[in-house]
Amino acid sequence: MSGKEFLPIINLDRCTGCGLCVRACPLGVLALHNKKPALVNPEACHYSGTCQEICPTQAISLPFEII
Ligand code: SF4
Repeated sequence: MSGKEFLPIINLDRCTGCGLCVRACPLGVLALHNKKPALVNPEACHYSGTCQEICPTQAISLPFEII
């Protein structure tokens, strides 16, 4: 299994572009790109869950947590 399956999924329809997730990530995985978060450093992500917890619109999830 590749690590890619554990990367966060960002629902850009729900995302307001507030940037909280970008500032919260302890590993610099996310950055705002065209006012929306993008995974700019995906190899650093070990999914701490910080971005998911801080997002006010529940725009971030893990693929295997979607039911
Ligand atoms: S915290 Fe949520 S709403 Fe804010 S930029 Fe990140 S994904 Fe979008």
